[in-house]
Amino acid sequence: MRNETKCLTIPPVSLEGYDSLTVPVYRASTIRYPDASSFAARFERDTDGYTYGLYGTPTHRYLEYKITELEGGARTILAPSGQAAITNTLLALLHAGETVLIPDTVYGPVRDFAQNELRALGIRAVFYDPCDLKALASLLDDQTRLVWVESPGSVTMEVQDLPAIVEMAHAKGALVGCDNTWASPLNCRPLDLGADIVVEALSKHFCGHSDVLMGSVTLRDPGLGQRLKAAFGRIGIGVSPDDCVLVLRGIETLAVRLKRAAMTARAIADWLERHPLVEKVYFPALPGSPGHEIWKRDFAGSCGVLTFSLVNSVNAGIIKALDALKLISIGASWGGTKSLIAPTSLRDLRTVKPWIGPDYLLRLSIGLEHPDDIREDLELFFSSLEATAGEPNARDGTGRMVERNKQTLAEEMPLKSRSELS
Ligand SMILES: *Cc1c(COP(=O)(O)O)cnc(C)c1O
Repeated sequence: MRNETKCLTIPPVSLEGYDSLTVPVYRASTIRYPDASSFAARFERDTDGYTYGLYGTPTHRYLEYKITELEGGARTILAPSGQAAITNTLLALLHAGETVLIPDTVYGPVRDFAQNELRALGIRAVFYDPCDLKALASLLDDQTRLVWVESPGSVTMEVQDLPAIVEMAHAKGALVGCDNTWASPLNCRPLDLGADIVVEALSKHFCGHSDVLMGSVTLRDPGLGQRLKAAFGRIGIGVSPDDCVLVLRGIETLAVRLKRAAMTARAIADWLERHPLVEKVYFPALPGSPGHEIWKRDFAGSCGVLTFSLVNSVNAGIIKALDALKLISIGASWGGTKSLIAPTSLRDLRTVKPWIGPDYLLRLSIGLEHPDDIREDLELFFSSLEATAGEPNARDGTGRMVERNKQTLAEEMPLKSRSELS
């Protein structure tokens, strides 16, 4: 063999005795077949077998298997974003003339997709109040193919009664799919609660470091899993094995990251609730938050993502005051190690119950920084708000509020978290 040809052959390196603690990156577009007859029979291979890079390499299988195990499902399919996981699931399942029921509080881009692409395909997308089971029951009919659930809801955090929704939907022959991104399977397992489909935006908690876009769909029924896997393949959905190992790495620290962020978020939420400039805190772990009782029943814990609104007198100054923050970044894609805040307008994002609250809600994604540094940064924001509104101290004008809030959050945390995470 000439050297030119030797450049193209794979040396006979043995994998014997190589047992790494990590999952290797297997890259491939092309899969080799041992002989022509196995190539001819390649589509008879098990769907977990290897036929083409688009349908997955061993690296993909490791991640699919891991997520399937965590969700308690039969099969997982990976997609290049959480959004792609949701939209392609809807495309694969729904036909013209059928109805999908979508919560009013759904992730904004999914609402957009439903109102544009789904409607253009002749699929009816009907929005429902996430907390009104009676209204949902009245929308379910023989054309309803799928009820979508996102719990807690985007920004306003309504926890939905998934088992009750499943019962109603199944009685009408409809499937139930749940976006479980906020909880992750460590804090909620929608398939155990009766859902047929669970989606995670792996870009958030799973990856956990704000540098990968990926999504997953996990199915309880192997037949439905096979159908979706085939549909995703036909549409041409695939992800990079390099990204898969980053998500696999993220999963190894998922539990500790979630616990730490949840503890800090609970302490920050308690502090915000007592703050005179705060109107309302939206966080399922707080008593009084919409669906808190359901959260206690169906969830094992929370994460670092919460929302709050401000009292009327300071609302006009929000955008300017956010520039006072030094530690917390302004940005949307939550679930990473660094704290984020996003001023969010719900005006165009609610149609069943048009939004009549403040122009902006503030969504916080609490990261892994020291809780007191996060609180001190938020204090810069509140001071800037007060300066803008020209009110030295909104509620009583004595400065007592500042004193009251000086106790360190870190000292309070362990007790709080114990009750929350139990
Ligand atoms: C971010 C997010 C998505 C979309 O995930 P991407 O990977 O950013 O496309 C879907 N659902 C929820 C609840 C999200 O927060």
